[in-house]
Amino acid sequence: MPSNKSVSEAPITQLLNCRILRDHRLQREDLWVREGKILDPEKLFFDEQAYADERVDCGGAIVAPGFIDVQLNGGYGVDFSQASDHVGAGVSLVARKLLEHGVTSFCPTLVTSPTHVYHKVLPQVKVQDGGRHGAGVLGVHLEGPFISAKKKGAHPEGFLRTFSGGGAAADLIDVYGGLDNVAVVTLAPELEGSQPAVDELRRRGVTVSLGHSVANLSQAEDAVRHGASFITHLFNAMLPFHHRDPGIVGLLTSDQIPPGRVVFYGMIADGIHTNPAALRIAHRAHPAGTQTLSGSIATMDACVRHFKRATGCSVEEALEAASLHPAQLLGISERKGTLDFGSHADFVLLDDELNVEATFISGQEVWRKTTQEQQ
Ligand code: ZN
Repeated sequence: MPSNKSVSEAPITQLLNCRILRDHRLQREDLWVREGKILDPEKLFFDEQAYADERVDCGGAIVAPGFIDVQLNGGYGVDFSQASDHVGAGVSLVARKLLEHGVTSFCPTLVTSPTHVYHKVLPQVKVQDGGRHGAGVLGVHLEGPFISAKKKGAHPEGFLRTFSGGGAAADLIDVYGGLDNVAVVTLAPELEGSQPAVDELRRRGVTVSLGHSVANLSQAEDAVRHGASFITHLFNAMLPFHHRDPGIVGLLTSDQIPPGRVVFYGMIADGIHTNPAALRIAHRAHPAGTQTLSGSIATMDACVRHFKRATGCSVEEALEAASLHPAQLLGISERKGTLDFGSHADFVLLDDELNVEATFISGQEVWRKTTQEQQ
């Protein structure tokens, strides 16, 4: 049979009867996929005169970029920080279960742990692509141990660390062993020696987040000038907003952030960790749209629904908080977190109440709600 394509022999899938999230709004358009990437249909029609090999009727569903969770401590009986012997299996189990919640990639997150746990666990949690086996792993998020004892939350105090003065690189390597599989480090910027550590982490391509901290606003701004770009679970485990020193929370409206720098903030929108009024304050104070939802131990799709309900934001904003913003934060929005042409075809089909109907990774259906589950 003659091929219908001039550029690639790979099959073309067309998703139709859907509203796709593109350019910050839902649009009645079809989504075209080939070789795991999103295709520009105009090029396909005019340059290749090609047509779809397979059509998927979405039944009117919303199609959004797959959710990206940058802070997930475990779930389904697995705690990544505890499972030092079997952490690889634990990550795989969680990765598989995440598919039904629309999560297509994530950062397994470790709380403050003894050095030997980092040395044992980190080499086991490799960056890897998602698929039918589960959501992709983008790298580990290390919360601690360079955090404040005053805001340690559930982190074990005995394993907290300060920077020694012997050089940030040496401290980081001494504690973590290596940073190859690390995507994000949360630290307290008021710790002495934290600035060279921020520099060093940025130099190695690691996203630096501020959290579990009693930093004042100028310390937080200084960390941002050094390259920190995220606030871990805003409002939780930091100084409460005070009008004379608004602390890390003040970054939301700071005018001391260098041009071109964006500070994202994580919200655990599970209805428990953060009061809905606080969600609304953050959402309304920061019109740049940099909120980033995290599951923590709740499910991401539930957080998206709760965030929309609590803030009254649009469907588009709620979905972007779980896809575009985390991708921008991690510096991967060229390939993930959007449905732009050329992006990875990781996406989720949702009904109007934002319940997940199906999840796709690299253009392949990896999970679909069965009739039984719908009842
Ligand atoms: Zn935390």
